[in-house]
Amino acid sequence: MVFQDESFVERIIKLKTQKQAVMLAHNYQLGQIQDVADFLGDSLELAKRSKGLGCKMIIFCGVRFMAETAKILSPEKKVVLPVEDAGCPLADTITVEDLQRLKATYPDAKVVSYVNSSAEIKAESDVCCTSANASTVVENIDVPQIIFVPDANLGRWVQKNNPSKKLIIWPGSCYVHQQFTLEDLQNARKSFPEAEILVHPECRPEVQDNADFVVSTSGMLKRAKSSQVKTLIIATEEGLIYRLKKENPKKEFYSLGNSRICLNMKKTTLAEVLAALEDEKPEVSLKDDVIKKARKALEEMVKFI
Ligand code: SF4
Repeated sequence: MVFQDESFVERIIKLKTQKQAVMLAHNYQLGQIQDVADFLGDSLELAKRSKGLGCKMIIFCGVRFMAETAKILSPEKKVVLPVEDAGCPLADTITVEDLQRLKATYPDAKVVSYVNSSAEIKAESDVCCTSANASTVVENIDVPQIIFVPDANLGRWVQKNNPSKKLIIWPGSCYVHQQFTLEDLQNARKSFPEAEILVHPECRPEVQDNADFVVSTSGMLKRAKSSQVKTLIIATEEGLIYRLKKENPKKEFYSLGNSRICLNMKKTTLAEVLAALEDEKPEVSLKDDVIKKARKALEEMVKFI
């Protein structure tokens, strides 16, 4: 466990109980946040969690699109994102107008949006997907042409797994996963010939094609537990490595190349969580029609879990 300011932790725990609040944290959050959260997970796990919670308030430690997803699935609850400007540059690559233009150009296509997108983009989509179920979602769509937004590397991975579909892919990318290179991977093979290399589908195509497994963060956690090898090389945001080490103390985990950090994911500290609990803000609020339409796309996605 990392060093924690006990008074912050104690006050957070006390306030959570007093205010009937639940703290959800993404796998990429700082260790200090992971240690005090009620539930840890990837976007999909946290979305599912938020739906069934018997609490009044959700303190969402992650980035905006994740907190919005919790609000869409639990509109009756107060959802608080401790750092208002914790956004996702990948989600910001596409606007509603961009998507509407694509829909007008390809009127027969259905729209699949990765959950790493704004609530408004979800509301314009037929179905959402995560990196864990994107291929299955696309496989089950009943038309041959699909507009896939906003991550191009994930889109390319899904296209490879579904050759019978024609994907029109938006050219967005995650700057964190883009930083892992083929050279990093080749160097890791030389330095750790016995290790398994697990990469996220937001990584570059050449990195995906030379890895042992292309998996979501939940897939990485599962593989780390079941794998017979002692050393695993991980290509995703470095916050996951903290959780992997904690859950698998007898195994070794290294980042592919240098550690890659999502700056927005690291903005949330214990001080921000405490202030969010005290003030019950910044609150996530969305228009009713956006919630209604985005919820439909998210519920379609849940069928493929
Ligand atoms: S890691 Fe990438 S996709 Fe995830 S929140 Fe950060 S920028 Fe967005």
